[in-house]
Amino acid sequence: MTGSTAGVALITGAGRGIGRAIAERLAEDGQDIIVADIPGARENIDAVVAAVEQRGRRAVGVAGDVSNPEDVERMIKEGTEALGDMTMFVANAGIAQVDEILDVNIKGVFYSYQLAAKRFIEQGTSGKIIGAASIVAFRPFPILASYSATKWAVRGLIQAAAMEFAKHNITVNAYAPGVVGTAMWDLIDERLTARDGTPRGSALQVQVDNILAGRVSEPADVAKLVSYLAGPDSDHMTGQTVLIDGGINFS
Ligand code: NAD
Repeated sequence: MTGSTAGVALITGAGRGIGRAIAERLAEDGQDIIVADIPGARENIDAVVAAVEQRGRRAVGVAGDVSNPEDVERMIKEGTEALGDMTMFVANAGIAQVDEILDVNIKGVFYSYQLAAKRFIEQGTSGKIIGAASIVAFRPFPILASYSATKWAVRGLIQAAAMEFAKHNITVNAYAPGVVGTAMWDLIDERLTARDGTPRGSALQVQVDNILAGRVSEPADVAKLVSYLAGPDSDHMTGQTVLIDGGINFS
């Protein structure tokens, strides 16, 4: 698959995990990167800025909460003032903690799509919006009911946004990872094993046993799909949520 052409990508939740891998991969593809994460993740943001610069691309760190539309708008403004017009927005930030899940995973995604599109329209350019769904957007996990519902919402938002923004030459697609070895799965494993009184790591292992590839996904596995969604080879695709899970679900 071909990587992206030069441009400026804003990636939310880019301080660690899948978001960081996407930042590094898109930098290798030739993109400059606006590294966005919460203010508390400043050290992570700075580390990813350095990782992008090591790859010979420009980067700037911006801090804000995606569940606050003013923060999203400000992060776009600060990022584009530093790096120029934005060509894509990767709405990667997402959480599994129930208390804030609707705010971050639904409202945060909604504001991200809306304000990214607003920016592309103001620029008078085409654009790509890429969202983070999940395998649970196709088949929920029973213990993750509310998380699953938010990821179904991402699929719905992607489809509606694709319809709404097509006339502005904006495509909207999502990646749907399976079981990726990040802090998010550490938390899920911790909760499941505490509930069942089983050893730490065993809940993750049960999932791995059901992956055809026979291993947990790496953030870089997901970043390869995002490279395609960010690049010109996916220009004719919109409204799609694409599974990248090593063989768990089939669409
Ligand atoms: P992670 O917890 O490792 O990283 C998430 C990042 O998002 C963190 O840097 C965090 O600070 C940031 N973030 C959290 N709340 C935020 C907010 N309100 N505003 C801005 N940034 C915020 O998670 P990950 O595993 O890398 O997951 C990335 C995305 O992929 C999420 O949307 C997640 O739902 C999705 N996903 C993950 C998996 C998995 O197995 N890890 C599977 C399917 C989908």
